[in-house]
Amino acid sequence: MAFPTETVYGLGAAINRRGAVRRIFSVKGRPLGNPLIVHISHREQLEQVVSSVPPVAARLMTRFWPGPLTLVLPRAAALLSEISAGLPTVAVRMPAHPLALALIRAVGVPLVAPSANLSGRPSPTTPGHVLADLVGKIEAVIDGGPCRLGIESTVLDLTSGSSPVILRPGGVSREELERELGITVSSVGRFRGAGPPPRVTKPRPCLPRSGLLLIRGVPERRRRLIWSLIRYYRGRGMTVAWLNPAGAKGATSGKIGLAPLLYGRLRRCELRGVRVILAEEISPRGLGAGVMNRLQNLATRVIRV
Ligand code: AMP
Ligand code: MG
Repeated sequence: MAFPTETVYGLGAAINRRGAVRRIFSVKGRPLGNPLIVHISHREQLEQVVSSVPPVAARLMTRFWPGPLTLVLPRAAALLSEISAGLPTVAVRMPAHPLALALIRAVGVPLVAPSANLSGRPSPTTPGHVLADLVGKIEAVIDGGPCRLGIESTVLDLTSGSSPVILRPGGVSREELERELGITVSSVGRFRGAGPPPRVTKPRPCLPRSGLLLIRGVPERRRRLIWSLIRYYRGRGMTVAWLNPAGAKGATSGKIGLAPLLYGRLRRCELRGVRVILAEEISPRGLGAGVMNRLQNLATRVIRV
């Protein structure tokens, strides 16, 4: 059963049903080594999921739940091992969506709920996206319209030692976490760790013939390069799309911006047979960090101008 959350649509299974949990992996084509996030509707359910709630976790729950913050904590001994892919920890959050909360309450136990798409495809932010990937493979999708945030939750590891670590940027920003905790929150991942991308000043024949190019650098030079890339690819008969953040209100300031539109735009590009997507860097503040992380992961090539 697929259902809406404030981030993306999730594919749910009760955490105490081994067959259903296993089916999530097979339906999505998801590797068994990729652990699932447990979704709860009220805090009393935590004892079915985690073995302890340190004070810093309790504080974050009070401030950000229900909401797009997933916490990685020590797992409860009785939790099905498939859920956490054999790890001693488990990821858990409380979604901020009335239909998601009502569903969890109706089932009576927490739900694992990865995104309701085929593994490797853009996450679904509308019921249509869910059906495009999973029609015939799942029983139903609860229609809650488009997701408000459109980007997955922030995953914060609270088990890695003294300070919390962002494993995946998302719906709650690092700035918000730091403000709440009054300490520095670090992050891992390609976005921060990647070395300087190649610098090019004009299109070269060795540019990829399909995929996503992430263009970084000062806005004026980005735009100049993008226009010349558009001419370059069109001149070779290829369909090219510009994932233009200016079309999304607040995108450059990082408020909500491009996030709710990102996955839908990527799917539309696919449907239109777009060969090359040109994506512009946006400010990695607020939700922008999550958007940049997804773009970086998708990029065939990063070009700095
Ligand atoms: P998805 O459900 O596809 O949005 O992805 C869930 C995310 O949470 C993935 O990035 C997982 O690697 C991460 N995750 C889930 N459980 C754990 C865990 N126990 N430790 C670290 N990361 C986790
Ligand atoms: Mg996913």
